[in-house]
Amino acid sequence: MVKILSTLITATLCLSMVSAHGLHSIEKRAELVCPTVYAPVAPGAYPALDCTPFTEDPQVQAWLKLVDFSKTPVFPPSIKGECPVDTASIPKGRCWWTCQKCEDKDDIVVCPKVGTWGLTYDDGPSPDSPRLYDVLKQHNTKATLFIVGSRAVSYPETLKRAYNEGHQIAIHTWSHAKITSLSNAEIVAELKWTEKAIFDVIGVSPIYWRPPYGDVDARARNIATQLGFKTAIWTQGFDTKDYEIPTAATPETIVAAFKSWLVNIPNMKTGFIVLEHDVLPEEVDVAVKGILPIAYAAKGLTMEPIAQCLNDGKPYKEGAGTFKLLPPSSTGTNGTTGPSVVGGDGKNTTSAAVGSVLATNAPAWMAGVSIAIAAMFSAY
Ligand SMILES: [Zn+2]
Repeated sequence: MVKILSTLITATLCLSMVSAHGLHSIEKRAELVCPTVYAPVAPGAYPALDCTPFTEDPQVQAWLKLVDFSKTPVFPPSIKGECPVDTASIPKGRCWWTCQKCEDKDDIVVCPKVGTWGLTYDDGPSPDSPRLYDVLKQHNTKATLFIVGSRAVSYPETLKRAYNEGHQIAIHTWSHAKITSLSNAEIVAELKWTEKAIFDVIGVSPIYWRPPYGDVDARARNIATQLGFKTAIWTQGFDTKDYEIPTAATPETIVAAFKSWLVNIPNMKTGFIVLEHDVLPEEVDVAVKGILPIAYAAKGLTMEPIAQCLNDGKPYKEGAGTFKLLPPSSTGTNGTTGPSVVGGDGKNTTSAAVGSVLATNAPAWMAGVSIAIAAMFSAY
């Protein structure tokens, strides 16, 4: 058993290294042309989709009054969110997550409890999101969904469903902007238009936000905090890179990397938060056919929305909304399953049952995974 396990670990680590040396564009989205001439947003309407909103708009001007910019650290906007060649030249106080690997004390980057996975999906809602919601619902699993404001406008019914099914709805900016590249006023516009678009659909205002690409610094954090938002990123190294399918990554490399993380979980001092997406069909495919079946088959792992793992019963400015804070689960390395692995009918779903589903529905590239995972988790 130990030999099988060590062979598996070696294989998965090699695959991880290969993918780590591949192309490293963070997220690929189509280039689009945004308006360059300001026109006020009509009452009841929204700014141009996927474009940073104009700050001259009276609505944005009103939101600017919510922030005392004399308290905001002064750093020049980055150039397209990209790190300077000499990262040592960045002032320490800027605490730029992507370029300096700097975490502020208030950044949410882990779940506190070992074995707890802050389950998150970014960039939705999309036409493919319902396939993800179906699987989560089947297992009574809730996630944190970081919503792009423009997508909330495009797919309000999908967002409504996510909210009604008890997922934690959170903010991922209006246009999926590289936030450090924006002016102070543009950061306000990106966050508040998204908050408004979500509120208009579900009637509550999210408190949690995630900077696209993890691109955040002290200036952006300060503005977000003054607006009442909590900055949630992900655990360093826990990026699935699902957005790189099918170019720099494949479902196989992503699943292999994910499996290598699972091996390390018992040795971590905390739980973890993973970066995944639900905007492209390939991203949803690898989640529902690759990652989730493995996770459901794994013992000692509890998947929760970030607010749940932080024991925060108020993820919205208005309170709990449809989010239900469950009692702390008994998780960790003791082999028990938490409340997230409960069937939709309220009965416990055993890992054996999930394993059989995996065996019958899994695509070819998943062959053997359930056996490998069983070996992996029997080792601790
Ligand atoms: Zn994103």
